Amino acid sequence: MGENNYLMIGAPGSGKGTQAKKLAAVMGLPHIATGELFRDLDPNVPVNKKILDWISQGNLATDDQVNALVKIRFAKPDVQNGYFLDGYPRNVSQAEYFKNISQVSDIIYIEVPDSEIEKRIVNRRVCKSCKAEYHLLFIPPKVAGQCDKCNGELYQRKDDNPEAVKKRLIDFHGLTEPVIPFYEKLGVRIHRIDGLQKPEKVFEDILESIGYEKK
Ligand code: AMP
Repeated sequence: MGENNYLMIGAPGSGKGTQAKKLAAVMGLPHIATGELFRDLDPNVPVNKKILDWISQGNLATDDQVNALVKIRFAKPDVQNGYFLDGYPRNVSQAEYFKNISQVSDIIYIEVPDSEIEKRIVNRRVCKSCKAEYHLLFIPPKVAGQCDKCNGELYQRKDDNPEAVKKRLIDFHGLTEPVIPFYEKLGVRIHRIDGLQKPEKVFEDILESIGYEKK
């Protein structure tokens, strides 16, 4: 039980979202990204609009806000066989809360230096419909501004600007990285992956490290 409960950890722009989506598809598990749970909130509801304005400036949501979204998501039956959780827990207090919801088996930590992160993020584009991610230099869409998979419109996230990225990197090192020793003490397996490599190689390294045999 709980053998495929994976947490993806990495700075914004480390490629963890892209990798999580691919891993989830190959292993037939749900990909749960808390950033997407927020972006899917209806902005016409005033309380949601306030949250969305706040996070679009690169600020973190409150623990109560994100914990509530995670609790609702984990009530769905599709998480029973495992999951790839991306963007949560973002700090030790969220990790404490999550202990009561699910037992993590593995952490996949994609390591990328900050200097590289800043270069990557300004080139990131996301599909409005299917949420596929592109990088204007490394993974460009075939047609500019259009998603290869669903022809949806590509956009730049409001928090993908240099000021917001600096803030998010400070949060990552100060708040999120301490989640790793927290889980290490609980006996969770930690897989450190070199995120500077090509996305295909990062993917292969992850599969090898978690011991997944391709069918
Ligand atoms: P992401 O797509 O993971 O970079 O998330 C986008 C934004 O959603 C973050 O900058 C935060 O404002 C918010 N968010 C997502 N997950 C969390 C979390 N675990 N704790 C606090 N805020 C979060």
